[in-house]
Amino acid sequence: SKKNGRNGYAFYFDELQTDSQRVLLLDAELRKAIENQEFELYFQPKIDIEKDTIQGLEALVRWNNKKLGFVSPAEFIPYAEETGLIIPLSEIIINKACEAVIELQKFGQKLPIAINISSIHFKQQNFLESIQTILERNNTPANNFEIEVTERTVMNSAAETVSKLVRLKQLGFKISIDDFGTGYSSLSYLVRFPLDCLKIDRSFIQHISSLDEKQAVVDAIIQMSHRLKMKVVAEGVEQAQQVDILRKMNCDIIQGFYYSKPLPMNELLEFIEFWEIEHQG
Ligand code: C2E
Ligand code: CA
Ligand code: CA
Ligand code: CA
Repeated sequence: SKKNGRNGYAFYFDELQTDSQRVLLLDAELRKAIENQEFELYFQPKIDIEKDTIQGLEALVRWNNKKLGFVSPAEFIPYAEETGLIIPLSEIIINKACEAVIELQKFGQKLPIAINISSIHFKQQNFLESIQTILERNNTPANNFEIEVTERTVMNSAAETVSKLVRLKQLGFKISIDDFGTGYSSLSYLVRFPLDCLKIDRSFIQHISSLDEKQAVVDAIIQMSHRLKMKVVAEGVEQAQQVDILRKMNCDIIQGFYYSKPLPMNELLEFIEFWEIEHQG
């Protein structure tokens, strides 16, 4: 352990130094990367299990840096949120999502793209203007997009949050609650907000085939969502058994490695083509 042993202190010190060096490097490289738009979007298909069609895509940011190598969004998104860099980064991501809509149109595809919006960006006073400006510049109307926000973003039910969501809906965006079930929040917002979709977090889907308790919770979430006129997406589905169970529970949409990992645009186009051949599109 870090505290024990003859070299414990030195070891701990080295580790600290390495950590802080990495943060410094991450900070410098992230700023440069934003300047140079060093990011790429990958797209994970979401499958409508009743119709057997691709219902839409989730855009997930990827960053491959010369010095740091591949950095996971699970590392750099929280850091960008802490430093405020998430705002310019989020604008780059939205812009790239617009470019993807245009690229898909070239191939005759119109699949809604879900964009993850950080609570920091969502809560900016000019969030609506900022997203609208980017869409208008690209001439890609809001009905091409879905906004994914976590429970935490909408948790407090502030009047401002409600009006922002209502305005997003009026513009034509669909709204999804991401990571549903992990926010420890009350469910009151589900009634107050104009939501289209609940995405059940992967932690509820894992071991669903062997644990009755998880089945009970997921079943209840699906029934509740349907009564509230929302669609349900199951996230992180990896096995056929999970698909079978979710199908029996009338889950609407499935997303996960079972169908596809997130793909760069060229591979996504191949996936779509293959899917259409396989499913008589
Ligand atoms: P998330 O929004 O919950 O995204 C789903 C994550 O689960 C993605 O990880 C995806 O690659 C992964 N995933 C999908 N299917 C499976 C599966 O079957 N099994 C497993 N084990 N994992 C699966 P990723 O791309 O590393 O992103 C991690 C998180 O980083 C995201 O979680 C989201 O919170 C954040 N993030 C990613 N891209 C963006 C972005 O463009 N903007 C913002 N604000 N956040 C992003
Ligand atoms: Ca998401
Ligand atoms: Ca999620
Ligand atoms: Ca997550």
